[in-house]
Amino acid sequence: MNFIKFLGTAGARVVVTKQLRASGGIWLNLDGTNILIDPGPGTLVKCFSSKPKLNPTDLEGIILTHKHLDHSNDINIMIEAMTEGGFKKKGKVFAPSDALNQDPVILKYVREYVEKVEILKEGGEYSIGNIKFTTPIKHVHSVETYGLIIYGSKIKISLIADTLYFTGLEKYYKGEILILNTVRLEPKQDLKYDIQHLTIPDAKKIISFIKPKLAILTHFGMTLLRAKPWEIAKQLSTELGINIISANDGMQINLSEFI
Ligand SMILES: [Zn+2]
Repeated sequence: MNFIKFLGTAGARVVVTKQLRASGGIWLNLDGTNILIDPGPGTLVKCFSSKPKLNPTDLEGIILTHKHLDHSNDINIMIEAMTEGGFKKKGKVFAPSDALNQDPVILKYVREYVEKVEILKEGGEYSIGNIKFTTPIKHVHSVETYGLIIYGSKIKISLIADTLYFTGLEKYYKGEILILNTVRLEPKQDLKYDIQHLTIPDAKKIISFIKPKLAILTHFGMTLLRAKPWEIAKQLSTELGINIISANDGMQINLSEFI
């Protein structure tokens, strides 16, 4: 199969709490292994309303890039669903230490349902089924956050999770498919409040350095949604000569086209 399915494309509080876009995270099927990344609010519902439906018992692992609710709200119920209500011990869960230790978002009794809970660290290397992935660098975000490089047998997928842009960020995320959580249209003037996200100018800089076969913008905040992300993606694509699209809820990318 080999596909990426976007069960949600909402980013930040307003778009998520008003459900202007869904917030179910990303389902990845690669080399026969199914994993779920950042199960925000509504993930379980989106799995079953998806066409064809996605069965959580097919999952072998769940990754949280960080503990903010738009990424973690459904983590407990998805662990329960993956393990058939906790009756079948299986799978792995990965999360930064602050999602497990301080003010944890993963309930302790649910942790017993999985085979292993692993803590994400800078420079970490991990595996789930046939997939390997790394967390190359700690992001600049208000809670501990990591992006992912996912290694399939024939393709490398990079996911840059929430972060403020920092010098050299793009050097860590080479890949044929690049997914960017691009919340903001442009940098915010008020430096006090919630600026720790990538903007469209940041995305442009990163994509032009990495030159992926496909770049996907997702995790949209209000300013970006109002500016029509599909038009921005089209314009960036023309400017850079790189295939760039904006994700829609329920969008599925067939990876065999890029292998
Ligand atoms: Zn966040």
